[in-house]
Amino acid sequence: MYYTADSQIFVDGKWVKPAEATVSLFSQTMHYGMSIFEGIRSYANPDGHTIFKAKEHYERLHEGCELLYMKVPYTVEELIAINEELLERNGLTNAYVRPLVYSGEHMSLNPSTTFGFMMAAWEWDKYHGNNGIRVMTSSFERPNPKSIHMRAKAGGHYVNSVISTREAKLKGFDEALLYDHDRYLAEASSANVFLQKGDMLVTPQVGNILPGITRATIIELARSQGIEVIETRLREEDVKSADSMFFVGTAAEVVGVSLLDEYEFPVKWENSIGAKLGAAYSKLVRSSDQRIVAV
Ligand code: PMP
Repeated sequence: MYYTADSQIFVDGKWVKPAEATVSLFSQTMHYGMSIFEGIRSYANPDGHTIFKAKEHYERLHEGCELLYMKVPYTVEELIAINEELLERNGLTNAYVRPLVYSGEHMSLNPSTTFGFMMAAWEWDKYHGNNGIRVMTSSFERPNPKSIHMRAKAGGHYVNSVISTREAKLKGFDEALLYDHDRYLAEASSANVFLQKGDMLVTPQVGNILPGITRATIIELARSQGIEVIETRLREEDVKSADSMFFVGTAAEVVGVSLLDEYEFPVKWENSIGAKLGAAYSKLVRSSDQRIVAV
């Protein structure tokens, strides 16, 4: 699914077949979760394709590496060039792109001083598929921002995402919604969250969440359409009295939530602000100039 016998991936300066690529079992990443990765999408458009917000994603990769004492051996511009070549070599225009910085052989808990870098791409549908997903309030909380760097998209942080997703699926839901250590709303397992309250949107403020690139785009799109967006701290009672709820992220794009535990959101997805912004997002990412114009 992620590759075929003909696929090529970029590993430490070389183009190799995925099945032939190797990594040391003594990599610090393997044992302690020390990696920084990104999830990026390229979209076909009338003039070819565009990697959506490539600069922002690769800047975040660099920032995450700095926070974790890691190094990306390429500049943002070089990473974008590698990404373009990756799409070209694999004949992809609509694709999900996964760059990853990992550590070399290093079993102590001092930061590693050697790093590897890989980038792969494959066709990947919207993470959740159709709108109207059913969500469970997780029994897990998001990691305390004082125990990790929330802004770093680090491999180890995703243990929390995997166990919360599994818990939700085992209970018959599609996705998990997580609060923070102070019981304020945070985010889904791999997406940010917005609530519709009347004719405005509210979303958790940054600090206890991964500040998503899609989240920033949705806020910009909403404001360009005259929709008020408030970034604030939200309690469970705010969430379970909202008119509508949706998740946003690179893989998920914009996906509507129909049910949260026993609470059914009263506004139908088709009539919600989220649906309107989802359509605008879909158009934006597939446009040639990717400009947000005020309406
Ligand atoms: N929160 C978490 C925990 C995530 O993993 C992601 C996906 N990267 C997001 C939010 C959304 O971020 P983005 O819009 O930058 O993909």
